[in-house]
Amino acid sequence: MDEKPPPARLEEVLIKFTQADNVEGFSILPSAKEAELYSMIPPDFSICDHCLAEIYDPNDRHYRYAFNSCAWCGPRFSIMRDVPYDREKTSMLEFKLCEDCEREYKDREDLRRFHAQGISCPKCGPKLWMEDSDGEKIHSEDPVRDAARLLDEGKILAIRGLGGYHIACLATDDEVVRKLRERKRRPSKPFALMALSVEVVERYAVVNETARDLLTSPERPIVLMPAKGGISELVAPGLDLIGIMLPYTALHHMLLKEVRDQILIMTSGNEHNKPMCTSVECARERLSPIVDYFLHHNREIVNRVDDSVIRFTGNRATMLRRGRGYAPMWIRLPSTLNKPVIAFGAELQNAGAVAFRDKAVLTQFIGDTDELENLEFLDRMLKFFSNVYRIEPSEAVIVADMHKGYSSRRLAEAWAEAHGSSLIEVQHHHAHICSVMVEERVEPSRKVLGIAIDGLGMGDDGTLWGGEVMISSFSDYERVGHLRPQPMPGGDRATIYPVRMLIGILSTFMSDDEILDLLRRRDLLKGLPKGEGEARISLTQARGKCPMISSVGRVLDAISSLLGICLERTYEGEPAMKLEAAAKGSLLRMEPPEIRGSVIDTSEFIERLLGAEGRKEDLAYTSIYLLGYSLGELSSKYLSRSDYDAIFVSGGAAVNSILIKGIEDSLKEFKVKVKLNSIVPAGDGGIALGQVASMLWRDLDEITN
Ligand SMILES: [Zn+2]
Ligand SMILES: [Zn+2]
Repeated sequence: MDEKPPPARLEEVLIKFTQADNVEGFSILPSAKEAELYSMIPPDFSICDHCLAEIYDPNDRHYRYAFNSCAWCGPRFSIMRDVPYDREKTSMLEFKLCEDCEREYKDREDLRRFHAQGISCPKCGPKLWMEDSDGEKIHSEDPVRDAARLLDEGKILAIRGLGGYHIACLATDDEVVRKLRERKRRPSKPFALMALSVEVVERYAVVNETARDLLTSPERPIVLMPAKGGISELVAPGLDLIGIMLPYTALHHMLLKEVRDQILIMTSGNEHNKPMCTSVECARERLSPIVDYFLHHNREIVNRVDDSVIRFTGNRATMLRRGRGYAPMWIRLPSTLNKPVIAFGAELQNAGAVAFRDKAVLTQFIGDTDELENLEFLDRMLKFFSNVYRIEPSEAVIVADMHKGYSSRRLAEAWAEAHGSSLIEVQHHHAHICSVMVEERVEPSRKVLGIAIDGLGMGDDGTLWGGEVMISSFSDYERVGHLRPQPMPGGDRATIYPVRMLIGILSTFMSDDEILDLLRRRDLLKGLPKGEGEARISLTQARGKCPMISSVGRVLDAISSLLGICLERTYEGEPAMKLEAAAKGSLLRMEPPEIRGSVIDTSEFIERLLGAEGRKEDLAYTSIYLLGYSLGELSSKYLSRSDYDAIFVSGGAAVNSILIKGIEDSLKEFKVKVKLNSIVPAGDGGIALGQVASMLWRDLDEITN
């Protein structure tokens, strides 16, 4: 077992004593049917050191081969059409092994290539070629070298990789990055980077030991680390963290070795709001307005897999996006389901899940399912996993979010209708807390105290939630405390223009004239496209009929705009992320928000914040910290009703280090641990796991189809 290849995971060892059959000698028998039914779909792994050594060895037949792989490394899930993982069931099928490869494949002594399904060589494997943005083929003896030369000249390239296309360009040249932002219509969302080695990463970011381990792991995620400077400011404007990954295929490694900086922007190759392209046709059609050249290859990408993203919350590594390297590894449930479950997740940054027995399989990161192509992708992946794990939708329970407006919910309804299966709705924040309960393997029917800190989710009372304290078991919950519900004038528009949210909160304790005066003095009217007119409309909405929301995310948005840090959200979470990035100061002498009964009064808090004196970075830090502190304080009232000396915190804002520190500090005297998600995202990308888990301990047979 010490000899296992690096990416292998020993999940459990089952030893069963049986009567010996009447056989002599030793032989490997075919896998039993049962085992075959449930063989796990392996995720894609980065190139191993042996394969890397071969591509730089002029005497090896894999010299400079962009698709080199072995039994220990290379693509899996991204090329698989079905289980088990045999070559005939992958997109390597069309590349017939040459004599040399065949010999290695059949050689029992060849540890790395014997029976390795994905192997190939320059003679028999996939090929690279280059095109210009008009789709004209460019003659090239060495496409990788030519691509590197073009990148160094400041050109933007689309590069077909393992789980899809990337768009690559220099990360150190403002002009180039600005050009990419304009062409991609992406004003400020951060771009991911790829660097040749940890040593190169260290030039640009602070790398701690955990980050180093993650960067070099076979999963090769993008790791967010404190930026040191040296790359263009336009890569991650207004943020203090940059996301970097190491090369994970031979192609990427050779490319990064050739370019002068040894670091490049490597962002998803997609059109604005659309999924990442996986096919040559998609890239030609959609990426040609963005890029100058293409580097294509001819191996089909069967399943799109985006790069995974990990950040640190305090000093804990937490998943932001679960894709390549991690998905679709299954997650063990703390108990057995008596029926299969198919879960459709939420809406933004979504993932779905299928579950059977004691296993849940979360799909790879899907994206925002309010975009039709992403919704179709969710549909396709749920069909794929139902099929490979032999789940009959007609015999499964379908689970969806309570929000009837979610496209994922409508898709779930269509599945339930088509298969005659039951649809169960799960409250958004209960699902969040369940997701961390699964990770912590909470025992059957036990109760925990949970805090859901989030952007937005539908509550069971028809209002929007997102700052909730719950006593939760897997099958049930009680909402025992929350932030004060605040008017959200204009609904969704208030998430795009956080000044609207600020107006909503201010309207609970100030007159219209006072508010308009404050917006003028602080120069915040520019945060509304229609200026003062829009402010007046927002006020009318806030005082009339408008959605009410108890979300932490929206309060952070309002504070971010109040401090002039972010006035427009151009990507999910931007105002709150920029507020966290700006919060480099220290704690001001200020009381946490007042708790009235079971409600945290955020109006009272914002009112005090208006009069508070301090630098922007201190005010930013203090407000986030105290908001977290009050949530911890409120929870502590209910500690006696929990079976654990821990609090389970999840939701999109549960990756905010300062919020979590506030919660932890307020609970210090109670010696309570704070449990966070680590294997699935705390945000909506992990919610499908929670939806599955909320079906545990329910008698699903009672739910008649
Ligand atoms: Zn290898
Ligand atoms: Zn070959």
